[in-house]
Amino acid sequence: MAGQMRGKVTVDVKECKGCGLCVESCPPKCLELMPELNPYGAHPARYTGQDCTACGICFYCCPEPGAITVYRIKAKGKAFAAVQGGEHAAAL
Ligand code: SF4
Ligand code: SF4
Repeated sequence: MAGQMRGKVTVDVKECKGCGLCVESCPPKCLELMPELNPYGAHPARYTGQDCTACGICFYCCPEPGAITVYRIKAKGKAFAAVQGGEHAAAL
């Protein structure tokens, strides 16, 4: 059952090597490998679009520093704030 959305994740398909570590490590299983290939010939990860809690586990498991950005919904709004990854993200 889908809970209240608390976060989301973006994956830079040009940085992702398709190792699948993020997919295996995500507790609510909301990441998957795409059927399409990226320029490296790998199947990059993507967010399924629901159930992300913004826990950040995928970010810390990923061996590619620029591949994953985690966003958390701000307390009083619908806007997302990058919390892990991304050029201007603040550390937890
Ligand atoms: S932040 Fe947590 S819940 Fe969201 S995709 Fe990453 S591992 Fe899954
Ligand atoms: S852990 Fe990183 S490199 Fe591996 S599939 Fe996920 S985003 Fe791609």
